[in-house]
Amino acid sequence: MYLLRKGNNYLFQFAPLARITGLVHTVMARNGGASAPPFNGSNVSSGVGDAPEAVTANRNRLQKMTGGIHIYTRQNHGTTIRAIRRDVLATKETIQTLPHEADALITDVPGVRLLIQTADCQAVMLADPEARVAANVHCGWRGNVADIIGRTVACMATEFDCRPERMVAAIGPSLGPCCAEFVNYEQEIPRSLWPFRVGRHHFDLWAISRHQLHRTGIARENIHAAGICTRCNPHLFFSYRKARQTGRFAALIGWDETCKGQAS
Ligand SMILES: [Zn+2]
Repeated sequence: MYLLRKGNNYLFQFAPLARITGLVHTVMARNGGASAPPFNGSNVSSGVGDAPEAVTANRNRLQKMTGGIHIYTRQNHGTTIRAIRRDVLATKETIQTLPHEADALITDVPGVRLLIQTADCQAVMLADPEARVAANVHCGWRGNVADIIGRTVACMATEFDCRPERMVAAIGPSLGPCCAEFVNYEQEIPRSLWPFRVGRHHFDLWAISRHQLHRTGIARENIHAAGICTRCNPHLFFSYRKARQTGRFAALIGWDETCKGQAS
């Protein structure tokens, strides 16, 4: 992951995703923005107690920097996957929150940006460059336990004709093996994931997600991770484990509308 844009808002990108023609993606750090402590500054979540006008200002700023129609969802650590179809373009709003909860979003509509909000959980961004389909997954440890990543890739294959062997995946800044401590792991984490335990009570959630991505058929060389721990970098990213009451930063992915109908 590299820093694309400095200034009031740091935007990061993954080189392998940035190389895909027509694909738009970014991870926005927490600096800048309109939110007051403890949500300072670019909190994009409306569900953490921050002032609504500050959240709106932050979302608007991100929309202006990256364009398109931004689709937010109410995330609840479940396994609901929603496909965003062309009818979203019929509305005039450029920032929309889905009326239903979802923890994974998939789209093939040019101009749509799928938003995932995190503070320690992973945003797992996926793209099939040939099918021109993108997905964004909210994956905390509960998501790993439920394999929401595998479920999303399967949904991309069955509903959008994606093929895992063509897909590229990137895991955003999130809780690293340094900080992913599960004192009650014997109750919380199934035995099948215990091989990913590091030390006594810590787990490598990045390795679990890599494993779950690879298991779907995505090539190891197409699976990327920021490798940045949110809890260890609280000035750059929100961390729930570090601060409890805090904001959420954004990861977004989607296709540029200018590529509609363009030969690849
Ligand atoms: Zn850490």
